[in-house]
Amino acid sequence: MAKANQLTCSFCGRSRDEVKILIAGQQSHICENCVEHAQEIIAQEVTVKKEGDKGNFKLNVRKPIEIKKFLDEYIIGQDDAKKILSVAVYNHFKRVAQKPQADDVEIEKSNIIMVGETGTGKTLLAKTIARLLNVPFAIVDATVFTEAGYVGEDVESMLTRLLQNCDYDVTAAERGIVYVDEIDKIARKGDNPSITRDVSGEGVQQGLLKMLEGTEALVPPQGGRKHPEQKMIKVDTKNILFICGGAFDGIDKVIARRINTNAIGFSVNKDEQENARKNLLQFINAQDLKSFGLIPELLGRLPVVTHLEPLDAGILRSILTEPKNSLLKQYHRLFELEGIELIIEEEVLDFMVGKAMEYKLGARGLRSICESILTDAMFELPGTDTKKFIVTLDYAEQKFSKSKLSSLKVA
Ligand code: ADP
Repeated sequence: MAKANQLTCSFCGRSRDEVKILIAGQQSHICENCVEHAQEIIAQEVTVKKEGDKGNFKLNVRKPIEIKKFLDEYIIGQDDAKKILSVAVYNHFKRVAQKPQADDVEIEKSNIIMVGETGTGKTLLAKTIARLLNVPFAIVDATVFTEAGYVGEDVESMLTRLLQNCDYDVTAAERGIVYVDEIDKIARKGDNPSITRDVSGEGVQQGLLKMLEGTEALVPPQGGRKHPEQKMIKVDTKNILFICGGAFDGIDKVIARRINTNAIGFSVNKDEQENARKNLLQFINAQDLKSFGLIPELLGRLPVVTHLEPLDAGILRSILTEPKNSLLKQYHRLFELEGIELIIEEEVLDFMVGKAMEYKLGARGLRSICESILTDAMFELPGTDTKKFIVTLDYAEQKFSKSKLSSLKVA
């Protein structure tokens, strides 16, 4: 115990005898241990940029029609999803900008869930919106999260990704967008949650709940598991927009079952019925997602549900050529930078689309198919005096048949 009038460190309380150095301030003292500790805190704190430091993220709010128009430039089709997303995002930022009102009408957060086969553009939609609005954006995979205490990451680490993407500008991150991919993979495995521990299913859904709703999360700056000595960054998720996406394989059967048992409003016209059957996803609602294994509390925080259409040959063909930075435009630019004019004959495009459909590769596969056809040319032509390179169907077929892709088995 320090004697009554012996000098002590005002921070840790150690007495003069217990420390090497005691620095005097106007009315207090600090020991060398506390100085060191304070220095560590400052070092960690400087990585957390304060508002206005960067100024790279000036929110760029657009009207829903403008958002949709921008999305149209980069994403083919998916009109329903684009419209629903445009409105949800617009309302979200209106909510963020709203001053507290006397009448207590509080606009709730419009987190979104998108259902659609893999490769139909879910990530692309979320990414494109974030770019338009100029807000920080992070893509995270729900499958890496596990319930606290198990091997895996805490759900808070999704905010680490967001912070890293905006250089730890906390204020900007607090208005960012997080895209949570593969949300269907954390569905509850069975109807009875108590049979076995479900550390990567329901537990993670519970963890996500608070994040989606809005909480002051303590985020480990470098991600991973939290540990007691680590300095955490406080991030308020109240105004972060969460967009979740998943393929929900087999959910069409759930929808079909529901629709058949509840035939009201279902068309009697045969053609329409056939059409509807082909794309049951358009009828998706929260009830189907619940039957699939998402807990009702989580669904309550994802009020906007939308779907993406499967891509047919026509859409794949447009994806090749139409978007502002379409694959073909990118390849043309790559050749142009070598001083070579690239000409791809029309039937080559049909061939590429045909292969993407045949091998069930979707839009993502188009890129690998282009690569398999064009890599040799991109390897051989630079440095030669070639000024024009024409890709004919023969050439494409020959290159593709030699590629690894062509040896893939068609399921
Ligand atoms: P998902 O998240 O649904 O699995 P992605 O958004 O990652 O699919 O899509 C994969 C790639 O396919 C995108 O980077 C894009 O090049 C292309 N793509 C998919 N759908 C579309 C679309 N509707 N319009 C334009 N490109 C698309």
